Amino acid sequence: TPPTVVVVGRPNVGKSTLLNRLVGRSASVVADLPGTTRDWVGGLVELVPEGGDPTRGAVAVRWLDTPGLRDSDDTVEQRAIQQARSVVASADVLVLMRDPENDWPEVAELPREPDVWVVNKADAVGEAWDGRADAILVSAQNGEGITALTHAVLETL
Ligand code: GDP
Ligand code: MG
Repeated sequence: TPPTVVVVGRPNVGKSTLLNRLVGRSASVVADLPGTTRDWVGGLVELVPEGGDPTRGAVAVRWLDTPGLRDSDDTVEQRAIQQARSVVASADVLVLMRDPENDWPEVAELPREPDVWVVNKADAVGEAWDGRADAILVSAQNGEGITALTHAVLETL
C-alpha cells in the first residue's frame, strides 16, 4: 500500500482545496462545513519531483484530509475523533496547515509532531510573513508553492 500523507489544521485553512488540486477532481469536498466533517476524504496522488527526476520518478501516496480533532461531548463524535487521532499518529508524513487568519493549532494536542509546516493562501498575503522560517508558503487555489510542498513531502518519505 502507498504511504499515507495526512493533512491537519483548523477548519477553513484550505485542506480540502489542496486535496482537490492534488487529486484533480474538484467540487466534491470543498463544500464541507467547518467543524462538521466526520468522514475521511482522500485520494491517491502522484507526487512528481520537479523536472521529473529520472532517478526517482513519481511517488504514489494516499493523501488524507482529516476531519476535525476537536473535543466533543457526543459519543459518536468522540469515536470519530479517536479514530482520527490514530490515523494522524500513524501517518507516514504529517502536514500541518495554517492560513493568514487561523494560527497554528496547539501542536502539543496532536498525537505527534508534524513533519511539514504549510502556510496556505499565499495569493492573499505577501511573502514570508509567518514567523516560522521552515514553513512552506503555498496557494492551494492557484498552485503557487505546490512544487516545494511536494519536495518536502518526498524528502520526509
Ligand atoms: P478546509 O476546511 O481546511 O478543508 O478548507 P477549504 O479547502 O474548505 O477552504 C476554506 C475556504 O478557503 C474556501 O472558501 C476556499 O475557497 C478558500 N481557500 C482555500 N485555499 C485557498 C487559497 O490558496 N487562497 C485563497 N485566497 N483562498 C483559499
Ligand atoms: Mg475540508
